[in-house]
Order: sequence, then C-alpha cells, then structure tokens
Amino acid sequence: MPELPEVETTRRGIAPALTGATFRQATIRQPRLRWAVPADLSSQIANQKVVCVARRGKYLLLVLEHGSVILHLGMSGSLRVVPDNEPPQPHDHVDLQFEASDGRCQILRLRDPRRFGAILWHTGPAHAHPLLSGLGPEPFDPAFDADYLRERLRGRRTAIKSALMDQGLVVGVGNIYASEALFHAGIRPSRAAGRLSRTDCQRLVTAVQQTLEAAMAAGGSTLRDFTQADGAPGYFQHAHQVYGRDGAPCQRCGTPIRHRRHGQRSTFWCPVCQPR
Ligand SMILES: [Zn+2]
Repeated sequence: MPELPEVETTRRGIAPALTGATFRQATIRQPRLRWAVPADLSSQIANQKVVCVARRGKYLLLVLEHGSVILHLGMSGSLRVVPDNEPPQPHDHVDLQFEASDGRCQILRLRDPRRFGAILWHTGPAHAHPLLSGLGPEPFDPAFDADYLRERLRGRRTAIKSALMDQGLVVGVGNIYASEALFHAGIRPSRAAGRLSRTDCQRLVTAVQQTLEAAMAAGGSTLRDFTQADGAPGYFQHAHQVYGRDGAPCQRCGTPIRHRRHGQRSTFWCPVCQPR
C-alpha cells in the first residue's frame, strides 16, 4: 500500500511534467473507484492550467486555476505520465490529457487494480474539502513537535501505535512507518498513548521524521519510473528494521522480532530495544 513516502515521491515524479501544463480532457474508463469519479471531471478541468502539484497527507492535489483535482492512491494505485498515444492496459481507469507549454500532449494515467483509490474534483481551495479539512499537521511541519504530541496524547488510553496512525493527530503515518518509528524511538507499540513522557514524545517526533525521510531518500532512485511507459512504479521495498520481520533477529540486538495481529493490521517490535 502506498504510504506517505510513495505519495511524495509520486508528487515529485509527476510535478515537472504537469506544472504549467493545460488540461484538455479526462477519459474515464472505470468510474467506480472508492468514490465515483465525477462524471463532469472532463469539463471541470478542460482548459485549466496546473498551478502546482501539492500533497496533503496521502492526498495528491493538482491545483488548477479554479479548483483542484484530489487524488488518492488507495491500496494499489499508481500514477504515470505517458505519451498521448500510449494504449491503456487493464486497470488503467482514468486518463487526464494535458498539453505542455511546448505543445506536446501527454497523459497522466491512474492505474488501480483494487480500485480503492479516488479521483475527485473540488471547486475552490482544496484544504476546505471534507476529506482534507480535519487532517492533522504534516509530519515535517514545525507544528508537529513534542509539546503538540504530548498535549494531544494526554489522557488517551489507546495504544500509541493506533494513536500515531490517526490522521487527525498527524498525517501520513501508516502501519509500516508507525512500527518503524516506534522501534527507532524505543517505545513499545502497545503502550498507552497518554503515558508517554515529553522525552518519549520528542524521540517519537524525531523518529517519525527520520523514518519518512529515509524512505523518501530511498525512493528518489525510482523517480524515473513515473515517466516510463512500461515502468510500473513499485512501492518501496527498502529494508525495514522491524516491519515484516517476524521471528528474524533484531538488527540492533539480535533478539527475535515479535509480531501481533489486530484485525487486518500487523504490529512488529523488538522486546529488548522497545522495553517500555
Ligand atoms: Zn532489538
């Protein structure tokens, strides 16, 4: 599943082609994504210039002159810029055709085999959209600091890992990076969120930022895939410290990594490196 580093890498991958370009039309082959693709998407975007390609949490925003296209990659979505005459493959559900300033026509193509992704239109500032208005700060926003975290976690009995994945607290920390950040902070995932000290909160803020930064740095090498016709951008397979390593030795202390399932989600931790 694409998490924030993949979404940010996608943004960096598609932004150079799209910024300053003008949309011509949308082709919708399959409107039934997580939410229905607006039937009037084509007329909404036609002849509008792309001001910038932004990101809020795991939402990509194509900011046009009079509104925004809001994109979400869901469980299996990916975006690529392909030539205008590139035939669609199965699961290529939506094309947004645009003309660059040099007159060349290209397509921003959404592929999404599992169809949990979304492509929506919002007239006016995107941050006012109901999907975005309740989101917490970005993990790299200075507002996301130890004092903020401690204040927001105060009195909460829920496990810190679940709290960290609450997009109203901070955006973009999914299952993988919550496990990884807690390992780096030395905090057990099941610990009651309200019991974290200020030092714990400081460690966790730093760990969240460093974990995401490292993943984005690793993703930089896949940027070229976003403009290759046949290069399906793979989600980052980069080395995790705990995630997916059930029973394998901790890379820091050698103790077998523990694993627990809660519903659909798996949590991984080292019982020695994350003692409290
Ligand atoms: Zn360990």
